[in-house]
Amino acid sequence: MKDTFKHKGLRQQLVNVLIDKGIKDEAVLKAIGNIPRHLFMDSGFLDHAYQDKAFPIAADQTISQPYTVAFQTELLQVKKESKILEIGTGSGYQAAVLCELGAKVYSIERQQELFKKTSKFLPKLGYRPKKLIFGDGYKGLKEEAPFDGIIVTAGAPFVPKPLLSQLKVGGRLVIPVGDDVQVMTLFIRKGPKEFEKHEFGDFRFVPLLEDKN
Ligand code: SAH
Repeated sequence: MKDTFKHKGLRQQLVNVLIDKGIKDEAVLKAIGNIPRHLFMDSGFLDHAYQDKAFPIAADQTISQPYTVAFQTELLQVKKESKILEIGTGSGYQAAVLCELGAKVYSIERQQELFKKTSKFLPKLGYRPKKLIFGDGYKGLKEEAPFDGIIVTAGAPFVPKPLLSQLKVGGRLVIPVGDDVQVMTLFIRKGPKEFEKHEFGDFRFVPLLEDKN
């Protein structure tokens, strides 16, 4: 599969849609403009890759809608060399966005099929996360903590405590919280036991599932 001028053109249109919807962060828009999203999707959905929609990937999961990826990434305020943990690697698209921004990326996936597929796929496109982990994201990644940012890309029924405790002071957790509908929530760690909470409206994600292993 290749990236072509046609794909690049469609991608620029997608970036314009995201700008119209209110995404402002130039680095995030540039990352989305660079990443061949069509290569992250099953071949049956190739024609739709640059629509602002979520689509199925393997193991009954979805690649998030580009607007949602952009919105969450903007809230995370990623800088070059930021240490970022993602929960829910899925297709690897969000991880690729974080790599484009120069972050040191750690990402956890609980579906083995997706973990294997994405571990092989990302380096082929030149994206090299620090670590992809097969495991349960509810626990975070204690051995690599603390993080500048943690992004959860599945709907969390509650906020897992380990994710808050694995943030640096000044660090940010971006997490959609809720059962059927999720409220996009940002926590900023202000001190060892102090967190600021901000809410940003409703989104819909596949659920963050309890560990099945
Ligand atoms: N960030 C992904 C979106 C994937 S959808 C992308 O860009 O494509 C959410 C993902 O979270 C799914 O792959 C699902 O298997 C995974 N997931 C669900 N519960 C999890 C858990 N407890 N730990 C880690 N990953 C989980």
